[in-house]
Amino acid sequence: MRMPKTYDYIIVGAGSAGCVLANRLSADPANEVLLLEAGPRDWNPFIHMPAGLSKLVNFKSLNWSYYTEPEPALNNRRLYWPRGRVLGGSSSINAMCYSRGHRSDYDDWADLGNPGWSWNEVLPYFLKSENQGRGESELHGVGGPLSVQDLGFTNPLSDVFIQAAEQAGFARNRDFNGPAQRGFGMYQVTQSNGRRCSTAAGFLRPARSRANLTVLTGAMTLGLDFSGSDRVSGVRYRRRGINRTAHARREVLLAAGAINSPQLLMLSGIGQAGMLESAGIEVRLERTEVGRNLQDHLDVCTLTRCSQPVTYDQLSELRVGLRYFLHHEGEGTSNIAEAGGFLVSGRGRDDRPDIQMHFVPALLDDHGRNRLPGDGYTVHACPLRPQSRGHLAIRSSDPTTPIAIHANYLSEAEDLEMMLDCVRLSREILAQPAFKPFRGHEILPGDDVTDRNGLIDFIRTKAETIYHPVGTCRMGPDPHSVVDPELKVRGIEGLRVIDASIMPTLVGGNTNAPTIMIAEKAADMILGTDKTADKTDQTGEDAAQAA
Ligand SMILES: Cc1cc2nc3c(=O)[nH]c(=O)nc-3n(C[C@H](O)[C@H](O)[C@H](O)COP(=O)(O)OP(=O)(O)OC[C@H]3O[C@@H](n4cnc5c(N)ncnc54)[C@H](O)[C@@H]3O)c2cc1C
Repeated sequence: MRMPKTYDYIIVGAGSAGCVLANRLSADPANEVLLLEAGPRDWNPFIHMPAGLSKLVNFKSLNWSYYTEPEPALNNRRLYWPRGRVLGGSSSINAMCYSRGHRSDYDDWADLGNPGWSWNEVLPYFLKSENQGRGESELHGVGGPLSVQDLGFTNPLSDVFIQAAEQAGFARNRDFNGPAQRGFGMYQVTQSNGRRCSTAAGFLRPARSRANLTVLTGAMTLGLDFSGSDRVSGVRYRRRGINRTAHARREVLLAAGAINSPQLLMLSGIGQAGMLESAGIEVRLERTEVGRNLQDHLDVCTLTRCSQPVTYDQLSELRVGLRYFLHHEGEGTSNIAEAGGFLVSGRGRDDRPDIQMHFVPALLDDHGRNRLPGDGYTVHACPLRPQSRGHLAIRSSDPTTPIAIHANYLSEAEDLEMMLDCVRLSREILAQPAFKPFRGHEILPGDDVTDRNGLIDFIRTKAETIYHPVGTCRMGPDPHSVVDPELKVRGIEGLRVIDASIMPTLVGGNTNAPTIMIAEKAADMILGTDKTADKTDQTGEDAAQAA
């Protein structure tokens, strides 16, 4: 039998957070670091060609391909939840939109009693990770591992969408992460010269040759090992069909994402006692909130037929692929969701944007899995701060049995009203003169669906996730929270959770950059170099960014 190896830090999951941790912790040659990833290496060329994302949704080998339990408010549909299962995790299959959310989202985290997590304290970590193609500014960093650039190629309809939004009275915004989030424009993307900049590409690749970093792919972590009742001593994992263990001298860091990190806690006996017992898992520590507080952005798509063949629907894949692989240019560099916007519904509790839109110059139904014939364009719209809360429920002690996901969408009445606003505002923009030369009939909800009941029925039948589940290992100052503000699991020594699951509340935007920020800050906390706490405003942009 092989002796288990001992590392200083064991990181579980090489996703958005895990690759950042691997880079930062192994930068000091004195730290022996092990990174375990259940999925394979990121060799698949569709990962790196941005437009390849439309293919990735169907690659089971790179995707956990979760489904929710039947959702009561969505006609008992089971919703498809893709999550990356490959080096880079979900950052290897996502749509690359670079968005940090609104500064007040982080001030909310601090106001909930989490010292060190206000906007002014987290901004330095956004800047540290960033290599902004437009250059350095008070709100943007250069020289970091995460390349953020303008799209090299955009479809003319994306400009039409932005013009239409202006005609509908919304402001144009060149930078959603600048002084104001509100308005419409092109997304900046996590790309480097036409290639996806996943965290595997940006953070892990430059660190892989370090002698003190071991990266194991195809290594599925099964659970935690303990010394005594409350100190984590390592992990159990399976690789090439063999069960193995690895020991951690200092800490185990769970970065397996908002579904798998809480599942690993539960598999290790940390969770709600009754639920664990009925799954045949011995209870080590009763922590009722593990897997609770699940939040996600629910999204509704308005699809319109396009009267001209200018969309991405009927492109020659061969021509696009050749141009891309020969020159790294053209449609292959597009993230497809090129343009978008942040707007204020008027229904929110304050004046920060509470709806986000993504415009797709193609017909997009059921995550692209239902290919519709002909040309068209799609507006995605989602409420940014849903009130509904879901939970995860473990049903087996077998780590390969997926945990039950109860997203509980639209369980709060207010969320349905926001979804109705999303459809109304999407239609308002699509009805503007800029779209006149392209406008065919509305495919979904459909020109004849205009009354409230018809629209509610449409939402219940068609709404889908826009891929931002968070909150299942909630950070908080209270004894019920799963992790404390240093992301240490309460009641257990030598264990932190560091990924999207620690967010106490969902941020108003996409979640990749916020998760990278969380890992940057956590790495500094682990290494004892987090100097941002208690700094006063560094940007001078407070008033402006309140928009
Ligand atoms: C299709 C899609 C589109 C998206 N689009 C955008 C976008 O445009 N912009 C944006 O900002 N955000 C986007 N997101 C969301 C964003 O990518 C995620 O919020 C973010 O990547 C989450 O990071 P994470 O580190 O928490 O988890 P992940 O990145 O999912 O990483 C978790 C990793 O842990 C591994 N793992 C899990 N369990 C185990 C185990 N037991 N053993 C070993 N390894 C394990 C997984 O395989 C995975 O690699 C999108 C997400 C998806 C799925």
